[in-house]
Amino acid sequence: MLDMFDLSGKVAVVTGGNRGIGLGIARGLARAGADLAIWSRDEDRNREAAEELRALGARVGTWSCDVASEPEVRRCTDETVEHFGRIDVSFANAGYGSAHDPLRMTLEQWRRLLAVNLDGAFLTLRDAARHMRERGGGGKLIAVSSISALFGTPKQPHYAAGKAGLDALVRSLAVELARHDIQVNSIQPGWIETEATRPAQDHAALNDAILRRTPARRWGRPADLEGIAVYLASRASDYHTGDSIRIDGGYSVF
Ligand code: NDP
Repeated sequence: MLDMFDLSGKVAVVTGGNRGIGLGIARGLARAGADLAIWSRDEDRNREAAEELRALGARVGTWSCDVASEPEVRRCTDETVEHFGRIDVSFANAGYGSAHDPLRMTLEQWRRLLAVNLDGAFLTLRDAARHMRERGGGGKLIAVSSISALFGTPKQPHYAAGKAGLDALVRSLAVELARHDIQVNSIQPGWIETEATRPAQDHAALNDAILRRTPARRWGRPADLEGIAVYLASRASDYHTGDSIRIDGGYSVF
């Protein structure tokens, strides 16, 4: 029964895999037997993440990559395929948030964030899909979206638009790629404890509002993403595509 979640012999890319949610995803995949390609910019952190993941039994390669750069994504895709021989799974997780008064936000600020959060995911998934289609045998593409795609997000219209864009992107790719046995989905995390949300965790009033609104009565942790990551990367999800799955402790149904 559990064989359907076995990722032995599978190679998974995780962008932004050197900390936070991406590292949580990578830990889950490593525990299920996958080999890992970590793509993030900070090489020291890449090395630290790789050491941790190797201790879980994975073969790990790291690439310094800015996902907003088309040539860098192309290079990292080619080098990952060269190194491991294939890519079976790709998680487009790299992203960040920034707060602005929307009426004062410049076009440059809007575009800078979307270049990473939306364009970067498009490039990552597109290049992985080209490789998967060419080699045959299917694959798994997963974007890390957010519940911000569903709700009005104060001071972050660019972030919310980018995440909603990701959910639309996975639906389109799912339809296009189903005939190649490639499943495409997104994960919508709720409030997860990472460096990115440190300011919100430390803001007493916001922290209180988040906990009151979350039926699980706690923040999510990167470890809470491990199960869904393994499911979406594995045979268990072979007929599940074009979906966006909330992992939010019940936040969005309360
Ligand atoms: P962190 O800030 O902890 O981690 C972000 C990761 O993305 C780092 O590994 C960082 O590595 C990488 N990254 C950032 N920019 C780039 C870039 N241009 N190219 C390549 N890698 C990049 O954030 P989280 O773990 O919290 O967030 C991960 C994802 O989850 C994001 O897409 C975020 O929007 C989403 N998310 C987070 C939620 C939360 O509550 N934490 C909720 C919903 C969604 P480096 O700096 O070395 O490049």
